[in-house]
Amino acid sequence: MNSKDTRTQFLNFFKGKGHKIVPSAPMVIKDDPTLLFTNAGMNQFKEYFLGISQSKNTRVVDTQKCLRVSGKHNDLEEVGKDTYHHTMFEMLGNWSFGDYFKEEAITWAWELLTEVLKIDKESLYVSVFEGSEDADKLEKDHEAYALWKKIVPVDRIIMGNKKDNFWEMGDQGPCGPCSEIHVDIRSKEEKAKVSGASLVNQDHPQVVEIWNLVFMQYNRKANGSLESLPAKHVDTGMGFERLCMVLQGVQSNYDTDIFTPLIREIETITNSDYGKNEEVDIAIRVISDHIRAVSFSIADGQLPSNTGAGYVIRRILRRAVRYGFTFLNTKEPFMYRLVNVLTDSLGDAYPELKDQKQLIENVIKEEEFSFLKTLDQGLVLLDTIITNTKGKTVDGSKAFELYDTFGFPIDLTALILSEKGYELDEAGFDTAMQQQKNRSKSASVVSKQDWEILVDDNEQEFVGYDLLDVEVKITKYRKIVSKKDGTQFQIVFNLTPFYAEGGGQVGDKGYLEDTHGDVVYITDTKKENNEIIHFAKNLPKHLGESFKAVVDKKQRSRTESNHTATHLLHQALREILGKHVEQKGSSVHSKYLRFDFSHFAKLTSEELHDVENFVNARIDGQLHLQEQRNVPMKDAVEAGAMALFGEKYGDAVRTIRFGQSIELCGGTHVKNTSEIWQFKIKSEGAVAAGIRRIEAITGDAVKDFHVDNDKLLSKIKDVLGNSQDPVKSVVGLQDENSNLKKQVAELLKDKAKNLKGELLQELQVVNGVQFLAKHIDLDAGGVKDLCFEMGNNKDNLFLLFGTEQNGKAFLSCYVSKELVASKGLNAGTIVRELGKYIQGGGGGQPFFATAGGKNPDGISEALDKAKEYLQ
Ligand code: ATP
Ligand code: MG
Repeated sequence: MNSKDTRTQFLNFFKGKGHKIVPSAPMVIKDDPTLLFTNAGMNQFKEYFLGISQSKNTRVVDTQKCLRVSGKHNDLEEVGKDTYHHTMFEMLGNWSFGDYFKEEAITWAWELLTEVLKIDKESLYVSVFEGSEDADKLEKDHEAYALWKKIVPVDRIIMGNKKDNFWEMGDQGPCGPCSEIHVDIRSKEEKAKVSGASLVNQDHPQVVEIWNLVFMQYNRKANGSLESLPAKHVDTGMGFERLCMVLQGVQSNYDTDIFTPLIREIETITNSDYGKNEEVDIAIRVISDHIRAVSFSIADGQLPSNTGAGYVIRRILRRAVRYGFTFLNTKEPFMYRLVNVLTDSLGDAYPELKDQKQLIENVIKEEEFSFLKTLDQGLVLLDTIITNTKGKTVDGSKAFELYDTFGFPIDLTALILSEKGYELDEAGFDTAMQQQKNRSKSASVVSKQDWEILVDDNEQEFVGYDLLDVEVKITKYRKIVSKKDGTQFQIVFNLTPFYAEGGGQVGDKGYLEDTHGDVVYITDTKKENNEIIHFAKNLPKHLGESFKAVVDKKQRSRTESNHTATHLLHQALREILGKHVEQKGSSVHSKYLRFDFSHFAKLTSEELHDVENFVNARIDGQLHLQEQRNVPMKDAVEAGAMALFGEKYGDAVRTIRFGQSIELCGGTHVKNTSEIWQFKIKSEGAVAAGIRRIEAITGDAVKDFHVDNDKLLSKIKDVLGNSQDPVKSVVGLQDENSNLKKQVAELLKDKAKNLKGELLQELQVVNGVQFLAKHIDLDAGGVKDLCFEMGNNKDNLFLLFGTEQNGKAFLSCYVSKELVASKGLNAGTIVRELGKYIQGGGGGQPFFATAGGKNPDGISEALDKAKEYLQ
């Protein structure tokens, strides 16, 4: 059975059991401080498990794009080396939110695998939580055991410990026992020799876990204790690629139809063979895996970069490039050429890949190109490190520097060193790495207390589209402490006018005021698990009372101007540059807006002008906000709203329309474009291959901008002696300046000629060499010309000149070529040695070299020493 059919069959099976099929959430997570990437199917449903909100459907089924390369789940180092862990993979899952529990979950999983998909029952093993003796004192999962016993012989039910069979979302939050299903795909002969049961959870490549059924029945509190959850949930996750491996009767995920087209293409491009040599095979697996992770991430809007999620992606891509470089001998970008095959095979299930294909290719190509350059530079640096190494062991901290600052991979360093007969001081490298980890860890440590619940109210309401000032009650709060921000309080209200950071727009600030006149400032507003959380430095004194919650109107209205201007800018770019323009990132602040979009060339000043005019025309046009809330997604898209990939939208969306600009948007906007007053682009530039960034301002900020420009202009006029036409004055000055420069150059030439005549007279003969060491007054270029001209006139010449410029000292040394050979004089060595007198260094060639330093007083001493080279 091919993989496409398997995916459909899974979804349809659970649809038949009353589940609603929902789409995968984005793999790249925005607006969640705790997680960069989706690493399990349950991430997008966290809020339901935490009881913060209720799902419309209590039974749901989906396939989720996951990435396991950072944080709690990090499989990166296994990937390629084994045959069943990927960075990016699909997780099939069925979900019960307070609906069915263990019985249905277990029987349906068994029915699907053995009756629908017809996997041989004899090859399946299941595991059950055995209980724990530790502080939690948990009982064995009797319920699950009894259910399995009805369908599976007891010798294939394996009891598992807490590590394998008790699942926790994090340090706090929902958790519970789980049952895993493992499959043994070894041959009959092997099975006869060693029982499968003994290989479960032993990292055997052919006895692997395919499905995990998690039964969430507890909540882990901040103090570490467990409490029972009022509603119990089921969360299951099955590795799609592993399931396909089993169903297609192959021994490796990479031998399924999900990977073989990619592998064939890699073989063709790199002229290699899969299946002949283990190192080559690992490289091919790594590349075929990583191209998926990187492409999906770019399609979700996360480009490689130097920080956060972008850095994770960059490292994955570099890992693949490096494997290619080392084992497949690829010295030029090649990964981008795989995107074609990838979109052919997954483009139907994930249309974002098809839509963004060009961008994905461009970004990957550019990244490969620049990393290959880094590799080249790293190789040169590594050579220098080796040259400066005494003995045969290379300092680990040096290797770490190479890794940390230049992204030069440590295993490549080790490999090259061993090829050259050197060893890497690995302990030193590990120490340097650990020190850096500690530094960044201690900068971000956060401790959170349990929520103090004041009012049991799960239905929080955002009223800030219409109101900026309402009466609220505090429903819960907690204290958090982080190194960066110190002590803060997170406060949740029953309803709130505060907009929480999201969709690129910053969170509102403002204050809470009680009836006694006590005020607490709200410094920021963010969403966590879809709940609006207000940040404050202090807690209100009278927690149980009512408060007036007031949003900072000035900041809000400036932010709204920038948000609406962002929509108009987006529209302008698509009208003026073309429909290939897509939003790639946006951040809307009160002071400015920033907009990233796909486009392949620098904008001309004419285009920038047109864009500004387009937006300003719509501001002058006084367009009214037309807002629709709770529109079904389908209707919104049909009406022409721009839907962005990589955004997670609920079924019902909000549309924002100003004239012809229609977008799906949860942000806040002006009521009429005239409020924006004016729009001004401040800068345009590149952020990555094929991605441009515009920064712009509106309203008051534009006024300030003009006022500043006005001041600048008056200052310039002032400096030009009250010129009425500053442009003419400046052009005049430029002309004058270039004439003067020409005159100076000629005078200097004359001077050098005269000087040359004088200096030739001053030469002394020392040990048969024409010698002169002297302090002269010329610029660097002049000295060099002088030396070579003197050299044309005289053989056997050894010159050392000291000069001074802008408070710095310079030494220039010239040695006739014949002396280099006959006397072993080397200008490079000489200036390097004499450089110490002027507190500097330098170098060059044996016949001419220069040094620069910061101590002009040392010049005469250096000149005095010159003669010694002739002794
Ligand atoms: P393993 O022990 O094999 O790493 P896990 O315990 O980390 O698996 P879960 O977190 O329970 O796995 O995830 C549910 C399912 O997702 C697993 O049963 C497996 O089929 C699949 N899975 C987990 N990690 C990966 C991965 N890196 N690549 C492919 N599939 C995976
Ligand atoms: Mg794992």
